[in-house]
Amino acid sequence: MRDESFEFAEPTALYIHVPFCTAKCGYCAFYSEPIDEYDADVVVSSLIKEMTQYQLGREIKMVYIGGGSPSCLPAEQLMRLIDEVTTCCPEPSEFTIELNPNQVNEDVLGRIFARFCVGK
Ligand code: SF4
Repeated sequence: MRDESFEFAEPTALYIHVPFCTAKCGYCAFYSEPIDEYDADVVVSSLIKEMTQYQLGREIKMVYIGGGSPSCLPAEQLMRLIDEVTTCCPEPSEFTIELNPNQVNEDVLGRIFARFCVGK
């Protein structure tokens, strides 16, 4: 059985792997599956469920959401994941998310930028 108790002695980082891409590139060693074959809502709900079972908080100083291609998630699922991460980890000094510019529009970018104080 997994030990779900953590004690953070040092500033700690959170990495979330979004295991989807629109298609798998032959040269890529990162784990990903074609998003069309999965229900993104179910997977994002599972990621959130796993994340929230831990007592994360202000100890998390770095957040990285990678993949895969996080931006291949439907916009509402992507924003739901970002909102939950920023709720669980309210004070990261660094927040990184991998975004494919061909997969995000101005609305999504605006919503992401609005969620953070960019450039402060
Ligand atoms: S992570 Fe990037 S390089 Fe790898 S399969 Fe997805 S799109 Fe291709």
